[in-house]
Amino acid sequence: MDQKVIVPVEAVLTKCVALPVGYVPTPSAPYREHRKHAQLTLQPGTPRLSSAPARKTAAIPVGSRVLIWKQDPSVSELGTRKAFLPGLIVQGPRDARITFGEPGIAQVSPNAFGDFIVSPNTDQFDAVHTFAIVRMTLTMFQRALAVDGTAAPLPWQWNSASNTKPLRVYPHGLPNVMNAYYSRSDQALKFGDFIPSGATERVYTCRSLDIVAHETGHAILDGLKPNWLLSNNPPQTGGLHESFGDLTAIFLALSQLDQVEAVIAQTKADLHDKTFLADMAEQFGLALGRPNGLRNADNDIKLSQAGTEVHAISQVFTGAIYDILADIFDHERSPQLEDDAAVLLRCGDYLCSLVLRALLAAPARAATYADVANHMLALAQADGRTAYLEFIRNSFIVREVLRTQADGHGEGDGAPAWAADAVDDEDAVQDRRACCGTMNHAEYSESDQLFDAEREALAAWCRDYAPRHD
Ligand SMILES: [Zn+2]
Repeated sequence: MDQKVIVPVEAVLTKCVALPVGYVPTPSAPYREHRKHAQLTLQPGTPRLSSAPARKTAAIPVGSRVLIWKQDPSVSELGTRKAFLPGLIVQGPRDARITFGEPGIAQVSPNAFGDFIVSPNTDQFDAVHTFAIVRMTLTMFQRALAVDGTAAPLPWQWNSASNTKPLRVYPHGLPNVMNAYYSRSDQALKFGDFIPSGATERVYTCRSLDIVAHETGHAILDGLKPNWLLSNNPPQTGGLHESFGDLTAIFLALSQLDQVEAVIAQTKADLHDKTFLADMAEQFGLALGRPNGLRNADNDIKLSQAGTEVHAISQVFTGAIYDILADIFDHERSPQLEDDAAVLLRCGDYLCSLVLRALLAAPARAATYADVANHMLALAQADGRTAYLEFIRNSFIVREVLRTQADGHGEGDGAPAWAADAVDDEDAVQDRRACCGTMNHAEYSESDQLFDAEREALAAWCRDYAPRHD
């Protein structure tokens, strides 16, 4: 009788536990040799007849695995995870639309499998993580605007028929700066790092999925609506830009299977329960002394409470969309028939597409919340999602974006179906002080033009009065 060898379960567990965090097997030379041998001897395959259709094989393996933070390093419950990026990515990492190439940080080369797997808390990890989040965000919106099975290219603001330059990412681009921004003139996203007062550990904004997604949202919206970012627009237009950044982070989280599962488990399927989904940028927020992250999507702020402060106004729109998400999810869920996480994934996907299409349909300049709300209603109607109309209308009425029907504003031909409630004063000026680095960047304000008069006077004086040296 054979004597079975019994391996104590502790030995197996100890071995597994000893593996480093974020462990991903990489191909060693003996492993590759073993695979090659096994394929030749153990898996001969079926002989192919000349009439049999050839198997579709790619000339080069397309797609890479990367290791990313699920939220940011402070959300230790989530940690890191592998993700698969389906397009071709080469050393950098870079692809046709996004490139990493920061001076002082060595480029990352793919391993033998074409993957970019590096240890967390290193420069290379930051490069891969930042690239990956920007890539996932762009892909998500390209899918959201897909037409007839083809993803939309979604240009960067500077792209044209003769300029297809990519967006550059600088994960350590702003040393000792407590901020991050998208710069049109640099054609780049730059991320700061800093040591919070009273702390010893440096916080890297590029390690936050929310912050990277937020800044990528600014870059994507700037490609679609170049006028909206300029500070001479009414406060609500600025609010749309800032809110789109936050919504981008929410939609990106909702597009990831593991994250929707975690949201469902953590909140017991109640999206108004406190969850990391509604808490933006945990680590960054904690560093600033805000317990609920940088800003909270699940809020009750109304337009009349926000004034001209763009960050507060942005929360009104973000909060309205978040409420609509919760209502749609409540309406769609049916735990007896379908897993809640699968339903939430689908709801997030639809709302992402609806919001993006409504923003795209809004005016090229001075767009208001009511413009976008009305386009959302029209598009949802056209999509046959009539059950959602009430959620959208109610949410925007509560936020004082749309007036109630009782005010006598009914549906009109071609005109906005619902009149705006709170509107910006004609001469209202945006107050961007509490916004992110993008909104405070000088290139989007008229401040430089204020120097023009002084420059002209200087030039005139030099021309007419200055002593001549010749
Ligand atoms: Zn922003």
